[in-house]
Amino acid sequence: MSEPKHPSEIAREALKRLAMRQLAPTPANYQACYNEIAEIPNMAPFPDGPLRELLVDLPARNEAQEKQIDRLSAAIAKRSWQGVRESLSAYAQAGESRSLTEATPIIPAGLSGEFAGKLARFVESVLPALGDEESRIVDVARELVEALKQPVVEVAFIQGLLGSLTHQAVFAAEEQLEIKNLLLKLLHLIIQNIGELSSDDSWLKGQIDGLLASVAPPLTLRHLDEMERRLRDVMEKQGRAKSRAVEAQEEMRVMLAEFVERLGTMNQSSTAFETHIEESARQIEQVSRLEDLKPLLDDVILATHAMAEETACSREQLKSLQAKVLVTESELMHLHQELDNASALARHDPLTDALNRKGLDEALEREVSSVRRKETPLSVSLLDIDNFKKLNDSFGHEAGDRALVHLADVARRNMRPCDTLARYGGEEFVVLMPDTTLEQGLEAMTRLQRELTKAIYLAGKEKILITFSAGVAQLATDESGTEAIRRADQAMYLAKRAGKNRVMGG
Ligand code: GH3
Ligand code: MG
Ligand code: MG
Repeated sequence: MSEPKHPSEIAREALKRLAMRQLAPTPANYQACYNEIAEIPNMAPFPDGPLRELLVDLPARNEAQEKQIDRLSAAIAKRSWQGVRESLSAYAQAGESRSLTEATPIIPAGLSGEFAGKLARFVESVLPALGDEESRIVDVARELVEALKQPVVEVAFIQGLLGSLTHQAVFAAEEQLEIKNLLLKLLHLIIQNIGELSSDDSWLKGQIDGLLASVAPPLTLRHLDEMERRLRDVMEKQGRAKSRAVEAQEEMRVMLAEFVERLGTMNQSSTAFETHIEESARQIEQVSRLEDLKPLLDDVILATHAMAEETACSREQLKSLQAKVLVTESELMHLHQELDNASALARHDPLTDALNRKGLDEALEREVSSVRRKETPLSVSLLDIDNFKKLNDSFGHEAGDRALVHLADVARRNMRPCDTLARYGGEEFVVLMPDTTLEQGLEAMTRLQRELTKAIYLAGKEKILITFSAGVAQLATDESGTEAIRRADQAMYLAKRAGKNRVMGG
């Protein structure tokens, strides 16, 4: 080993070597050359800057860790690798020991106690929607909720349970869907059956057809509500029809019995009369003296009188029976009339299947209170077919009726499921549009106008263009639904005045 060189000598040689090797004169290159000449290991400079940054980032979760952070700070100041290594290792151990011994949980980032609580509430609230027959899903859900409510929430365990719950939920949801579809099918069958039982009643048939059309997915609450009301109408009508039939049948039975009895007595008395007359005739033949004939004739006259009386009496009785039949008949007609009125009591117009005035009143009340609650806009429109009288006059009333049905169909096809169509009068309809501003309402009605132009209506072979004029009004604060319809009506009137086939705002 040679004598150690003097630092100034090393420094000079280091500069020479830097130039010889044509290295860039950076401190790092100079130090490398210096170390080479001084024969000391080529160590990287002490990174005190980055270490201090690290020091700032280190969290002190407990006293022990705080102490080690101070030690680390001192080691950096002394540029002691040894000190840095020791203090960092002790710092790490201080963190580990705490997590093993402390009672309060360390919740990994992203899963706080509050989050666990929310997750538990979520699981509890969706469980009823998945049905409670399948006990497996209930068990898993209970276990999960329990685990989430523990002071120590073990993420891996929760993850496992969540995975299993998801698996079960997929099955349960599929089953619920299947149950819903089956129930719908069943309902369809029942309604069809009711319809077949009363195929003679056209009003009922119309209602049943409407019901069958509405028993189709997608099922919304509004849809179900409408279905329930229709079904109630049908049931009410059926109840009336049934009691009417029973009553009429009983009356007819009583009358028929009386009639048969009457016929029987008439027959009896006429047979007795015949025998009597025959006997008298035989005796009259044998009589040789006139004075013997007198009592026989008296007898015949008496018998004839009795028979005449009997016949008169029978005639009276038959007359009164006939009168009774007439009364019953008119009563039945009256009942029929009442039943026809029942269709007016129902909520649907039998021709177009749109709501009638009663149905509209109810729907309007519902929509108005709903938008008041939710503070959302509601627009109403009143539309009136243009020149409808002319259509009737040219193609007949029946073609006019079919045009009304056509318009209602096109309107229904182009409305949103939450909109309501009602027949307001002869050729006037009202559309209720929830969540719709005046501007959007005008747009919707203009769109319907366009669609109606595209959907051609055929009266026989004749293509007829049906147009309408409409007014739209948005329900104002403190305004009643009826008042809004009245404003829409005024706007419709202005649309007529302005040349028809247009939509105007009220
Ligand atoms: P405008 O363009 O001004 O509305 O003229 P319009 O002919 O449509 O209106 P108007 O009020 O003069 O006539 C309406 C006609 O609608 C008269 C009536 O006979 C007919 N109408 C009303 N209800 C029915 C119905 O249920 N079926 C048929 N076919 N026609 C009806
Ligand atoms: Mg009109
Ligand atoms: Mg009209």
